[in-house]
Amino acid sequence: MRTYFLHNFKEIENIDKLSEEEKFAVETVGSVLPFKVNNYVINELIDWDNVPEDPIFTLTFPRKEMLLPEHYRRMETLIKKNAAKERIHQAANEIREQLNPHPAGQIDLNVPVINRRRFYGLQHKYRETALFFPSEGQTCHSYCTFCFRWPQFVGWKNIRFATREAEKLTTYLKEHQEISDVLFTGGDPMVMKAEILEVYIDSLLRSDLSHIKNIRIGTKSLSYWPYRFLSDPDSDKLLRVLEKVVKAGKHLAMMLHFNHYKELETKAVEKASRRLRDIGAVLRTQAPILRHINASPEIWAKMWKRQVNMGMVPYYMFVVRDTGAQHYFGLPLMESWEIFREAYNQVSGLCRTVRGPSMSCIPGKVQILGVTEAAGERVFVMRMLQGRNPDWVHRPFFAQYNEEATWIDGLKPAFGEKKFFFEDELKRIYRQRLEDNGSLSFE
Ligand SMILES: *Cc1c(COP(=O)(O)O)cnc(C)c1O
Ligand code: SF4
Repeated sequence: MRTYFLHNFKEIENIDKLSEEEKFAVETVGSVLPFKVNNYVINELIDWDNVPEDPIFTLTFPRKEMLLPEHYRRMETLIKKNAAKERIHQAANEIREQLNPHPAGQIDLNVPVINRRRFYGLQHKYRETALFFPSEGQTCHSYCTFCFRWPQFVGWKNIRFATREAEKLTTYLKEHQEISDVLFTGGDPMVMKAEILEVYIDSLLRSDLSHIKNIRIGTKSLSYWPYRFLSDPDSDKLLRVLEKVVKAGKHLAMMLHFNHYKELETKAVEKASRRLRDIGAVLRTQAPILRHINASPEIWAKMWKRQVNMGMVPYYMFVVRDTGAQHYFGLPLMESWEIFREAYNQVSGLCRTVRGPSMSCIPGKVQILGVTEAAGERVFVMRMLQGRNPDWVHRPFFAQYNEEATWIDGLKPAFGEKKFFFEDELKRIYRQRLEDNGSLSFE
């Protein structure tokens, strides 16, 4: 794999298809938003005759409009006057801090405490499912411009470290018999070497964790580096490690992230998905809806159809989080719902396993079911697909219609009510967490 960052992106073969101004924008915006791209994305996914509009280009290359004008001007000024690296870093960090880097209470509410210490490798928000962030998987084969996970993008660690992490994970799981699913996430856990992944998988397959029935791997590797499953030095070993899950009688779900049907059209992605199906993995797909990349019903319908054709199960359409370059990628909830509905209309029931548009927010995963009239008022109908309290799930609730809101915090309860039905209890849960964690500080 050949990888490009800010310092060497001018070596990319087709880079001169960009104007000088566009190249400068890559440098300027790329010092704030994540930038990393590899030869597969460059040679097999991006259509260089269609840059900068090409969706995969926009997905991976920083563009001027992704920063707010005042932020762009600040970085531009520093770079044009050749400011010292440290000053550029500092300005970039200050801008990042203004972009809500830890949305939806992830640290305060979801990170569990083991022996009075926070275990940052784990999040446990929904009863049945623990999210595990193996530290070796906190980077990706390429970076998405809409993503804001770089607090996590750190280096590679060794097997001894993995073993210690696996011990903490299994200690927690043993004490939580209600957990049936472990979801590996990141970054991208598929950047891990197979021998590291094996430490984690083996620890989960132990006989004293028989309540763990489903192992899920959240990954963008089929889109950014399908050769991970084909021709990397440890590709065969990786497949054998994953196959252990199936052989142990558990469900192996690959939670695949695809933003556009173009990511499903190469020979490599076809072969990689076939290899995964051949070991008995179930392939499920999910993605956020993003302006400038996939904000049209035709794109989604074509993508879901292609996925089903390749043996994949469409799972979630997400609303892009209130973080990072949301002003560029975000769209009103109203519009996301319309796109979802028009796409859903065009496909057969096999694609309609997909649920969305869904916001992962503090109370849970909130789906916009639609817009309608009730009691003389125009309202959004919503429900939770997941809830911090499982009892909240699948209860319809209503918000005042709002054409501009892009996130739940822009919505108000309908029918003159003061709060949504879950708010009092959410406050109680939050207070309880603070008390349970005692002297722990909430940064
Ligand atoms: C989405 C999500 C899960 C998984 O939810 P499912 O509906 O079971 O796929 C688990 N934990 C968190 C924090 C999530 O956001
Ligand atoms: S692959 Fe996932 S974690 Fe990695 S940059 Fe993209 S969205 Fe972020």
